[in-house]
Amino acid sequence: MNKILIFVLAIGVSCSITPGEKLVKNSNELTAAIKSAQPGDKIIMASGVWQDIEILFEARGTKELPIELSAESPGKVVISGKSNLQIAGEYLIVLGLVFKDGYTPTGEVISFRSDKNKLANYCTVTQCVIDNFSNPERFEFDLWVAIFGKHNTFEFNSLIDKRNEGVTLAVRLDTEGSRENHHRIANNYFGPRENLGSNGGETIRIGTSHYSLSNSNTVVENNYFDRCNGEHEIISNKSGSNIYRSNVFYECIGTLTMRHGKYTVVENNYFLGNGKVNTGGIRVINEYQTVRNNYLTGLTGYRFRGALVIMNGVPNSPINRYNQVVDSKIENNILIDCDYIQLCAGSDSERSATPVATTMTGNIFLSKTNLNPFTIYDDISGISFKNNFINSDATLPIKDGFEKVAYATHKNANGLEVPSDELLKKIGFENVQLPVKLEETGASYYPKVGKTKTFGGGKSIQVAPGTNTIIEALEGAEAGDILVLNNGGTYLLTKDVLLHKPITIKTLAGDKAIIQSSKAGFFKIENEGSLELINIKLDGAESPDLSGNHVISTSKYSMNKNYKLFIRDCDVVNMNINYAFDFFKIAQHTMADSVLVENSTFKNITGDIFSFDKEPEDLGIYNIENMTITNCRFENIQGAIANIYRGGTDESTFGPWVTIKNTQLLNCGKGNRNKLASSFLFHGVQNLQLEGTTLEHSAPINLFLTNGDPISMLKNIQLKDSGKIISNSNTYSQENITIVK
Ligand code: CA
Repeated sequence: MNKILIFVLAIGVSCSITPGEKLVKNSNELTAAIKSAQPGDKIIMASGVWQDIEILFEARGTKELPIELSAESPGKVVISGKSNLQIAGEYLIVLGLVFKDGYTPTGEVISFRSDKNKLANYCTVTQCVIDNFSNPERFEFDLWVAIFGKHNTFEFNSLIDKRNEGVTLAVRLDTEGSRENHHRIANNYFGPRENLGSNGGETIRIGTSHYSLSNSNTVVENNYFDRCNGEHEIISNKSGSNIYRSNVFYECIGTLTMRHGKYTVVENNYFLGNGKVNTGGIRVINEYQTVRNNYLTGLTGYRFRGALVIMNGVPNSPINRYNQVVDSKIENNILIDCDYIQLCAGSDSERSATPVATTMTGNIFLSKTNLNPFTIYDDISGISFKNNFINSDATLPIKDGFEKVAYATHKNANGLEVPSDELLKKIGFENVQLPVKLEETGASYYPKVGKTKTFGGGKSIQVAPGTNTIIEALEGAEAGDILVLNNGGTYLLTKDVLLHKPITIKTLAGDKAIIQSSKAGFFKIENEGSLELINIKLDGAESPDLSGNHVISTSKYSMNKNYKLFIRDCDVVNMNINYAFDFFKIAQHTMADSVLVENSTFKNITGDIFSFDKEPEDLGIYNIENMTITNCRFENIQGAIANIYRGGTDESTFGPWVTIKNTQLLNCGKGNRNKLASSFLFHGVQNLQLEGTTLEHSAPINLFLTNGDPISMLKNIQLKDSGKIISNSNTYSQENITIVK
């Protein structure tokens, strides 16, 4: 083979670039290629990690000859660090980029404009991924995708695990050039989004209240929403004439909310709750809305996150409040085992305008999970009911417009629980089938997020007693691993145990291992960390003679990942070398997904056990979603057992939820440093179940009920020399409360 032929072959192999294609390998080459781009050009970013790059893709293609910015190999171009992408111009296509391991230094990761005057029109972003490209500061606000301009398409992208404040994908209407925009948002995979614990965790928002009288004309279809749990609006519609069609909502905590704007169509969407707590459906507000041919199943959400919610409005509502529901249609929807249908929801002295000229026709309600699914908060005479069906054993507070039928469902060939064919025919909803499959959404090369298990999925690591052996064992541990301690062994810590991943530490059945620490703290849950302790004795005998010690703490800094703390079958003793020795100490802007304590005892502790009160600004932000204490005993605790604070009147969130059962307190909460003068203080807790619990010689139970119709149930409580229940309101329910002096 002669040398010239070898050279030609080498060119052919290394670089399959055709005329108009330009492979760029660094930021300078990329900028130059974009500057000189002509219609029909393809700019190809070389595979590899592009660190700290702000891409301005400003160019003009044509309808026939768009300009493309793509990855050499889809998924192999990773944009990381402080990076973002701005698109401005016409007929531009972005394809195959992955944003991960970083966050945007500006307000957007992908923006369809470069500044207020340079918008993107007729542009497409496809096969791109944004995966946990989250600001490490939980309450630093950004949008992952901001769509401005007109006629843009966002399709087949994967947006996964946004953790910081701000909508995942927002359509903005703030200048004339971005209204009546006709965008298309289709076939995207909206992967799991954890609970933000504040407003600002929406997955999609179209418009804002300010421009909500304008039409957007955006179509959102064939998308898959997978566990989008950021806040109670999965989607916040805030502009006119949008269509939400043929999307799947899988175990999403929240609702598709028609918050502002008229002429919204919500059709052929499938909401699959699988009985998960707080899963919701569709919430109707405003005029001329249409909700038809949707299928909803296994949704448990209550109040604003019910399966179907029709709100009350505010008379002559200011633009940012609630417009009355007028001339809206709810037709031909199927609701199977959905727990709550809420009519005139939100009725109060401000929201007093009941729905008018609204029809509910041809809907099927079959539920065995709640036989009293309708809640009516106000006058429903403005809603006319016709040809609806409900199971005969259900209680129905509506006189006309329903036919009672037997509860009968079966799994159809598509794997969905459906009513009889005869009944389906009656409403003309014959083919019950998911409109889009999971694998038909998102970037095709990028994996979807599977089921997650926090604790116990990993290997067991045997740890010998001794000094810092736990810390040594942790160095080789992976998420879900279990450190197994010796029965009765003593483990001394002379350094903090830093948890950067979920870890279980346990002793097998029998004598508990004993953990002591010579540091001010034992364990620190860092970002991404979670901790489960099983059958362990935590002993303060070696703790330093300092005030303000603690057993477990969160990171001192903002954490953007929610954590779990589970304490099972543990004894916590002798945390009394000095004053204010807390069991658990948290920092601001941290969020517990759940704290669970069961079958455990706490004895001789000078501080608080749990104090989740580090968000004092009353913005509706709080530090814990779920707390459960069952079968526990607390003795000689100077501080509070649980102090949970959620201030403000924001209605965007669900929690905190607190359950305390079968628990005994003796001499608790009476230390003179316990400024709360309470054993339990629940301020703004949204769902409280306090049951089978005895307080003896202890500080009282204190409830502060605020916004959102909190549910508070107190049952079988004995208060012996422990005061009365203190509350700002008498709207909690109580049963069998015994007070003994
Ligand atoms: Ca919201």
